Amino acid sequence: MPAEALAQALRSLADTLRFYRAMGITHLPLSKDYLPAPQDELARQERELQGCTRCKLSRSRSKIVFGSGNPRAEFVTIGEGPGEEEDRQGLPFVGRAGQLLTKMLASVDLDRERDCYIMNVVKCHPEKNRNPEPDEVLACQPFLLAQLGAIQPKVILTLGNFATQSLLGTKEGISKLHGKIYQYHAMVLVPTFHPAFLLRNPGPEYRRLAWEDLKLAKREYDRLRTIPR
Ligand code: URA
Repeated sequence: MPAEALAQALRSLADTLRFYRAMGITHLPLSKDYLPAPQDELARQERELQGCTRCKLSRSRSKIVFGSGNPRAEFVTIGEGPGEEEDRQGLPFVGRAGQLLTKMLASVDLDRERDCYIMNVVKCHPEKNRNPEPDEVLACQPFLLAQLGAIQPKVILTLGNFATQSLLGTKEGISKLHGKIYQYHAMVLVPTFHPAFLLRNPGPEYRRLAWEDLKLAKREYDRLRTIPR
């Protein structure tokens, strides 16, 4: 192997290990496939999650909603938790809010299947769409972090108060948090309004603000995509 290719491979390995360390992962078992492709790693995680009873949401769900999209995407969107339609289909953002999300992404030239991976903070539907409780978020957190570790996106778009506050560890509201970029481990995080909120508040003002957030996220994505992972 030419020296430069070897050096590049070692630099990539060092970046990956730094990424895992930043995510709080200190132990990497080196058995079997220890550097699986993102799609294999996500499939393994999804299998591991089947039948999960780590929290009480397991009692209100029909299907675990793991996530969907391109496992190699550099753009990830994170919502709160599956709604009723998502619970029925086992897929994230497939109801009315999901249709709006698909359009929001398309408005900045992002195709949700080709360019994005879509997931939620919690993977099971909370009854009557209530907010997930802290113990439920905590129980699901290792899975969220593992998903991000497998995908290694450059940009995360958080949707609404709940996802943004959970990831940034703040109680500040989305109206204050949106419009700016934040560092989240090795990724850039851009908060915006939840599409369900935009559907409830169809005034042009919030949609205009969300559009500005989407453009900001896309600018970051275009800027960071040129830097090798
Ligand atoms: N709202 C969310 O936060 N997530 C979904 O998957 C659907 C609606």
